[in-house]
Amino acid sequence: MSELRHPIGTFDVLAPDSRRWEALLAVFARVVEGAGYGLVITPTFEDLQVFQRVGASTDIVRKEMYDFEDKGGRRVALRPEVTASVVRAFIQHRPTTPWKAWYAGSNFRYESPQAGRYREFHQVGIEVFGAADADLDVEVMALGWEFYRALGLRRVELMVNSLGDATCRPPYRALLIEYLEARSGDLCDEHRDRFRENPLRVLDCKRPTCKAVAADAPKQVEHLCDACGAHFARATGGLDALGIPWTLATNLVRGLDYYTRTTFEYAGLALDSAQNAVGGGGRYDALVEEMGGPSTPGIGFALGVERILMACDAEGTLAAPDAAVDVFVVDFAGGDAARDLTAQLRAAGVRADRSFDGRSAKAQFKVADRSGARLALVVGPDDAAAGTVMIRPLTGDRTQWATPRDQVVAEVARLLGS
Ligand code: AMP
Repeated sequence: MSELRHPIGTFDVLAPDSRRWEALLAVFARVVEGAGYGLVITPTFEDLQVFQRVGASTDIVRKEMYDFEDKGGRRVALRPEVTASVVRAFIQHRPTTPWKAWYAGSNFRYESPQAGRYREFHQVGIEVFGAADADLDVEVMALGWEFYRALGLRRVELMVNSLGDATCRPPYRALLIEYLEARSGDLCDEHRDRFRENPLRVLDCKRPTCKAVAADAPKQVEHLCDACGAHFARATGGLDALGIPWTLATNLVRGLDYYTRTTFEYAGLALDSAQNAVGGGGRYDALVEEMGGPSTPGIGFALGVERILMACDAEGTLAAPDAAVDVFVVDFAGGDAARDLTAQLRAAGVRADRSFDGRSAKAQFKVADRSGARLALVVGPDDAAAGTVMIRPLTGDRTQWATPRDQVVAEVARLLGS
């Protein structure tokens, strides 16, 4: 029988590596909850329409979606991103605005797997509904920035653009189409045929031909209406005021179509440039209404966990936090002693593990050392009879001593506390 393996483009994370994931999530929760965001949990799959409404003409929705018919004949899709689900949940539950939500979870895209690009990948993110204020754009961009800093990352670049709104986007779009018509012979095969449908996608195309055309294309930031111009000035001015460095990225449009006004991405400069986007986001002031809800402005970001961890590796930060347990119970007595002692330790809040199956002394102490515990509690047949337990430090001087069984939990707590 052939060996079973995880699907292409996915991976397993085992301890101690998974402890870094836990640490990353804890840091994220601390940063965003400290700014008033509450956790939202939405399903991993949705009605296909939820995603079709957010990006019918994007690669993410057209080519990369895991969609299928379920056993009840419903057309569903594994989520390729979380924003669409959170918008759907907002419309369904109508929480009081401004509504500030954060999430963590996996997404699915049928992409060509490579380093930093997976078919199931994980994101942490935030969304805010019901505030159009440019100061909120500053808050959102700053929270992403603070999160990277809190992880110890120093080589992250924040790139910012504005995509305008319903007033200034249509005339800009027309200008862009006019420019692309003149240069259509220089576009990649895909965009030569399709640029009229969604000209902004050309600006996001990674093929060298389109990149060259995009470099000279008209820029939305140079064609903003007064309101969008003022919004952009306030948002970027806020970053300056907070001392957060940013660069203007005039061709930054992002992979989905719903963005308006402020659009941004974080690049991990320690990573290979092909896969260095560690997160991105922007405003989507029309999206809630487009998805059938009341007209409500929104903004958010999504940050890629795998890429962030790669950046942490490259910058030598976020080591796996220390071992899981403080105490390891070594059992030479058999019977009930180890079971009961371990349960008492845990009930007293001491992180404790134990050996099973009556293994040899050598094997048990090997496991005890590997557990990272500071103390071993050794339960031998003589001790059990004498009503004592041996306490043995697993670091430094390993001399052990006997402690009365009924005092050992308190003694361990005292030793660990000091
Ligand atoms: P996006 O909304 O597509 O820009 O995704 C936001 C972030 O998620 C990106 O900046 C990446 O860090 C990460 N990301 C997107 N797609 C993938 C993928 N296929 N594998 C790993 N990370 C991804």
